[in-house]
Amino acid sequence: MGLKQNGEFGFIEQIAQLFGHLNRKGWEGIGDDCAVIPCRDGQSLVITTDLLVEGTHFLFDKISPEALGYKSLAVNLSDVASMGARPAASFLSLSLSGRTDDAWRRSFLEGYHSLSVAHNVALLGGDTAKSAGQLFISITALGIVPDTNIKRRSGARAGDRIFVTSTLGDAAAGWEIIRRGAPGDEHEKWLADRHNRPKIAVEEGIWLGEQQCVHAMMDVSDGVASDLRHIMRRSSVGAAVHLDKIPLSVQILHVGGKNRWNLPEMAVGKGEDYCLLFTVAESGAEELKSEYLKKFKKEIFEIGRITPLETEGREQKTVSSPVEIVWMENGVPVEFNAEGFTHF
Ligand code: ADP
Ligand code: MG
Repeated sequence: MGLKQNGEFGFIEQIAQLFGHLNRKGWEGIGDDCAVIPCRDGQSLVITTDLLVEGTHFLFDKISPEALGYKSLAVNLSDVASMGARPAASFLSLSLSGRTDDAWRRSFLEGYHSLSVAHNVALLGGDTAKSAGQLFISITALGIVPDTNIKRRSGARAGDRIFVTSTLGDAAAGWEIIRRGAPGDEHEKWLADRHNRPKIAVEEGIWLGEQQCVHAMMDVSDGVASDLRHIMRRSSVGAAVHLDKIPLSVQILHVGGKNRWNLPEMAVGKGEDYCLLFTVAESGAEELKSEYLKKFKKEIFEIGRITPLETEGREQKTVSSPVEIVWMENGVPVEFNAEGFTHF
């Protein structure tokens, strides 16, 4: 979860360059949803850490402590699953302010515990400190994955089809509703809930990890416009996305229509959907679609294609180098500006 484009990504690249020489052979560090540490027996440990900051990721008075506990773990488990890994354990660090009384803390833990139970994730440690102001929640999550199932951002190949596991923009719409005040009708409540309690795709990620035809995978935390660019950079490929194929929920269509929101911009340019974004070999795509439907009783949505890199010979390896998605509508390229969420 981060700050984007040259600001955030440039900073992360700086860190990667300064510290890269200290890395152990075979270990994978900065640049994917999780770090990967090979273990014995052809399995790897994957590790991710995410920070939730009051005022940036949530508003203290607008999210129940139970939902906040749930969401804090959810966004980390989403990163683990996006590697094709099964979540195994977490560490929880909190800086608690004066407003977080006993009842608040109990309720926060209940939310965190319920998701831990749902996915059989142990809590192995953490840290607790006092904060004079904002509440900070920092979580580290670990998962286990057979080496053959690991899906990286770097696996996409020209010709792959691009899919997502859910409708896009719902969490961003929910955030807009939450920021404006209390959600009104059922649709608004549903959207606000998508922001506060993201439906992460854990079993889906593990299953997609097992499928050979899935080449690259990550979770959507900053919006497809930003997140897909990570796959493009790390895989040295281009991409075309069909705006008319972006899946939109009934709820966002209803509320967005009333409020005259720019729905394509909201759906691909804003984050926190925590669904999976993945690319699939053309030869396996149709079968994967029907097998997924059979297994999970819901669809995956095709939104575009991976293309060869347009700028022949140009290096696209760094996280902040510019890559451009070709946006399409009704089969033709269109001008469209959506960067994805950025923190600086
Ligand atoms: P995600 O949205 O999947 O959590 P981010 O965009 O936050 O991923 O981070 C991208 C990559 O940069 C990850 O591999 C992450 O570990 C790394 N990263 C982010 N911030 C830092 C930091 N301050 N120091 C080292 N690595 C970082
Ligand atoms: Mg991620």
